Amino acid sequence: MKNECNIIRDILPLYREKMVSADTSEFIEEHLKNCSECRKECDRMKEPKVMRSNADILPLTKLKQKLRTKRIKTIVFTAILVTALLVSAFAVMDAPEYFPYFSELVSITENADKSITITFDEIVTDYQCSSYSDTSEEGRHYYQIEAWTSLWDRWFSKRGAQSTTIQAEEHLPFSVYYVSNNGQENVCIYGQELAGDGGMISLPRLSPGYYLILAALFLGVMLVIWFAVKNKSNIKIWVERIILYPASYIIGHTVVLGFDFASYSFPRDFALIIFLSILIYCGLLLGHSIYRLRREIKEMSRY
Ligand SMILES: [Zn+2]
Repeated sequence: MKNECNIIRDILPLYREKMVSADTSEFIEEHLKNCSECRKECDRMKEPKVMRSNADILPLTKLKQKLRTKRIKTIVFTAILVTALLVSAFAVMDAPEYFPYFSELVSITENADKSITITFDEIVTDYQCSSYSDTSEEGRHYYQIEAWTSLWDRWFSKRGAQSTTIQAEEHLPFSVYYVSNNGQENVCIYGQELAGDGGMISLPRLSPGYYLILAALFLGVMLVIWFAVKNKSNIKIWVERIILYPASYIIGHTVVLGFDFASYSFPRDFALIIFLSILIYCGLLLGHSIYRLRREIKEMSRY
């Protein structure tokens, strides 16, 4: 019996790897049925084998996990970019395109109760009327009117001719100015022109300039951080990804406004800059990851 055990133990590894003939296998199984010692030995051989295969699988599961988080990241990132693109596309479409003044743009009718009705030409889809009562001129009120349309209104909404009625406050005389929003003087379309106010121009909004400076500052700070983490590749990647946005914003601004800091129709221009900058950002991100992938492949092939 003892002798047979020794033979069995010698060929057990081969048996475990299924590298024995059917006859030998049968012979071993017959022996294992009756010999608890050899059965134990056989079981013991199973354990390290399992552990070893676990160690083999571990990098693979890690890789799987890595791929899964990468896929989730990509989905989340894409969702954010698509949402931002849609929102800014809508903002571009809905942003006002102001009409400069021309005589057919507005017609005015005086009503019996001393109010006036201002009717806009059909091309106007929206307007705003703001009142200024703080004038020094003998309590005279004045109103500013601006009129615009938008891509969205032109494509989807048929509002018809817009009109508004302006009521005289406390029956005091008033004046109405039309604001062209293009650098031209405001045009007095009703009432007495205010003395010394004739050359009033509505100034463009300077906000695009502020946002441009902010983007440039942010870019500067991120570049400093980039230099600081130059040797930590995993942080550096993220810093580079962040840097690409202010850079995209600056490119977007230059495309929309050139080197101007001011805009007469800030909402439209700003929405356009955001829209463009996101598109540019997507492109740059893609370029960045392709560049990194190529470099990784190059480094891998070196070894
Ligand atoms: Zn045995």
